[in-house]
Amino acid sequence: MAKPVIRLQNPNAPPGRQQALLVATNEARAYRDRRMNFPLPPDQLLNESTALPHAQRALRAEGIAVPSRQQCLGKLVLPLGQYLNAPFPWLVSNDVGYMKYLIDKHREELSKKPGKAKVQNQWIKDHLAEYAESFPEVSIILEANIHRYVYGQKGFENHTFQEMWELYSLYSAQKDRPDDFNTLQRDSIQKAYSSVSRWLNTPVTHITSVQMKRFRTYIYDKKSQVELEGWVRLWENPNGIPPADLSWVKDDTERGLFGPIQVYRDNAAVLKRRRVIKSDRMWFYPPEPPGYISGTVPTPHLFFWGRIFVWRPVGVWKFSLKCPRGEECVGQGKNVYLYKSGYHTKVRHICDVSSWYCIITEVLCCGPCTKAARGGGSGKVGRWLAWDSTILCQLSEAHQAMFPAILTDKRGVDKNVVQLLRDRTKGNTMVKVWRQIQENHVEEYL
Ligand SMILES: [Zn+2]
Repeated sequence: MAKPVIRLQNPNAPPGRQQALLVATNEARAYRDRRMNFPLPPDQLLNESTALPHAQRALRAEGIAVPSRQQCLGKLVLPLGQYLNAPFPWLVSNDVGYMKYLIDKHREELSKKPGKAKVQNQWIKDHLAEYAESFPEVSIILEANIHRYVYGQKGFENHTFQEMWELYSLYSAQKDRPDDFNTLQRDSIQKAYSSVSRWLNTPVTHITSVQMKRFRTYIYDKKSQVELEGWVRLWENPNGIPPADLSWVKDDTERGLFGPIQVYRDNAAVLKRRRVIKSDRMWFYPPEPPGYISGTVPTPHLFFWGRIFVWRPVGVWKFSLKCPRGEECVGQGKNVYLYKSGYHTKVRHICDVSSWYCIITEVLCCGPCTKAARGGGSGKVGRWLAWDSTILCQLSEAHQAMFPAILTDKRGVDKNVVQLLRDRTKGNTMVKVWRQIQENHVEEYL
């Protein structure tokens, strides 16, 4: 068989973006259904050491003086699977989907068996993969080249997955620094962002296209490769941030905790990507719940999003705070100010008038005290949660008032609730207030 005929999903796409059709031809189906067999190949083609030399000789006999690698591979047959002994070019012409399946599975197998472990029929599968890679239209649909898949959605018909990811991840940058982009770029980034977000927010069970399911996973994988600086894993525990909120809190560059992706070089000069917690606010509000319900029923998650408060008097207001030990401080007498040392691993759940929200706090350290304690001294580590009263009392009254809650042992109550309790007059009993609050909490979700 000469050069295969490749059927295309998107024949109008420019070269390099065309993708082979994955469905089998009628001819292929006939082979499968009627269990037809390809003619038995000569023994030399079934042996790793003789297959390619044999192919070369055969091509020379056909008058091709210097056969190309692709031509040689094109003489091989697949001595396994549902098309037993099918020539490689026949597979390319008739069932690229099946080739893709075999090659993807083979790559996965190899990656799981590093080193010398033998994979069955490895040589012929390697050759099949190499042959497939030699056709751009086939190569592009292999799992190994997932970044080159074509997105194919409206407005981005010929964009690859990788190009969509790049546009998508520029969204917050163009928002924060609009002057770095021209109108055309901004427009394209915004459109890409909303197009990609739509797929990310669609439950995977509601996506019928295999390619778009793969796209969704691709983008989520990409996102997870970005380091979230300051994020505390324990916040994801059962008593931490509610699972329904995790996605907007981590991913939404507009409303969530983290700003846009920053690229930097680590100590080994390797380019890394990270997002840091925003320093311009303490309150974080979830996206609005959907105003109307169209088509399928939305996931209940959308209606249970809650606020988050991140208490950071040093991180946000840049307060210079003294070591609460005062005279006892190891660094006493010198100009010692507390520095930020990450975040408390526990999330406090606060009961508000109509719902619950979460509070997270930064942790502050005294350098000299901590150093002394670590050096084996008798002192305790100089480490405080920023909501400790010893810290709060150093702030101005106005700033103290910004802390929204009264903390109890394990949870906390919003100051508005406390206000309600204080305003009790005749007939407005404690029980009534609590009943009202409970009622409000229920109504919020109706
Ligand atoms: Zn100290």
